Amino acid sequence: MHEQFEALLNRIAEGSSVGDEFLADVLARVIVKAPLETSRVEIAAGIPGGGGPAHERKIPQGTVSKAVKALMDEGLLDRGKTGLLNEDGRPVASLQLGTGVCMAGAKVTLLRGVPAAVTTALTRLDGKVLSSSMKSLPGSPADRWQLVAGLIHREVVRLKKRQDEQRSAQGEEPLELFGVGVEVGAHVDRGKIIRRVGEGEYSEVPLGDDLTRRFAGKVPVVVENDVNALAVWALNSGRYPEADLVVVAVFDEGVGGGLIMDGRLRRGGNGMAMEVGHLTVGHAPGSRKLTGAGTATGRRDPSLDLFDPECHCGGVGHVDAFATPARLRKSAGVATLGEIARAPVSVDGVRTPQALCMETAGSVLGRGLAHVVNIVNPSRLVLYLPAELCDIAPAHAAHCYLAAARSEMEHAFSTGATVAHLTPVQLEDKDLGELGARAAAVCVINSFIDHARGLDGCPVVQRRPSARRTADGPRADRVSDAS
Ligand SMILES: [Zn+2]
Repeated sequence: MHEQFEALLNRIAEGSSVGDEFLADVLARVIVKAPLETSRVEIAAGIPGGGGPAHERKIPQGTVSKAVKALMDEGLLDRGKTGLLNEDGRPVASLQLGTGVCMAGAKVTLLRGVPAAVTTALTRLDGKVLSSSMKSLPGSPADRWQLVAGLIHREVVRLKKRQDEQRSAQGEEPLELFGVGVEVGAHVDRGKIIRRVGEGEYSEVPLGDDLTRRFAGKVPVVVENDVNALAVWALNSGRYPEADLVVVAVFDEGVGGGLIMDGRLRRGGNGMAMEVGHLTVGHAPGSRKLTGAGTATGRRDPSLDLFDPECHCGGVGHVDAFATPARLRKSAGVATLGEIARAPVSVDGVRTPQALCMETAGSVLGRGLAHVVNIVNPSRLVLYLPAELCDIAPAHAAHCYLAAARSEMEHAFSTGATVAHLTPVQLEDKDLGELGARAAAVCVINSFIDHARGLDGCPVVQRRPSARRTADGPRADRVSDAS
């Protein structure tokens, strides 16, 4: 699968005796520390109490030095610019992520399940954006999936060319492209987008293969579910030290989840772990078919009557049918979420319909979160919410959303909800594209780390000296131009 990662590891093995796992651990520790610089001593000591076993264990100093040298030879690490002092106050050489290597990330924005736009970003190895663009997809909805790979390829090449021209003017070498990451709010399984095309019928869009071909097989391509990418972003940002972390995002048309366990993203059997939006709420088990009038049969919680219970997946009573901005607007009959969010909670002591909608939607989300807490017992639950739903002014209807979600989540078993530290994070519409593109880019280096650790399902190769010489060629063969 990841032939390009394999070639890189083979090349490193030619000049170094350090094992793949140590390379991965050292690189991961520099990433978590970025944008701050770190040192060999810090890397060797590990990060006590943070990020899972791979970050916590001590690595022998000599091994760190070998791994750092190998990663420097490949441009993945550079000498730092600021001086660091050790515990005795003596200066030590600092390290940073390589600045001559870049990654590309693209977020495919869907509208009713069809690609509408692509945000592409060129980033540093820690995900810091160098430049970005947003392009709408032309053509009829039926054709748009076929256009996605071409657009991403064109934009990556264009952004990189522009960046390289600027570098050249300053006497710097062109950037080396480490890989291309793409994130999509869909079911993603090993580089393919799985789409529902009818009752029990699914088709595949081979986005990963298509992009790999367009980059002539020379650049690793990683395709990831959108919230999985946000979870990887959370993991690599160093902001959350927990090794067991859940990320849930409420987007306009759906609620998604990403699961980090023991410091690693878990995708499940075919990429569908944490489909929080399709948990059933408010319906008694048994028959839940829709009847002609759009009402569901089966025993239904009457408090949900304000909402259409049919999920976009064809199911009935799923979280996505109640907890999203699109369903809130529909149930309140308004054009913008702000109209419901800023409505008063009550008038003359009577709760407003907007407040009731918000409360129902938030409770449904909270029920879903309680299920998640019961199943995976996260040490933190990061909840991305649209800005309107983060409104905490007690007089505004929006206040009821998060309050209801918290209160419903408290019903999880034992101390699960307390341990889960619900952490709301505001999603600004204008930042959505770039955040996604950045997260997609970070998935590339995270995939390399998982590959080196032998955790990504690729065949694990025993690297021996005899095998090294038949490896995929010297460094000069590497792609220095995306075209
Ligand atoms: Zn559903």
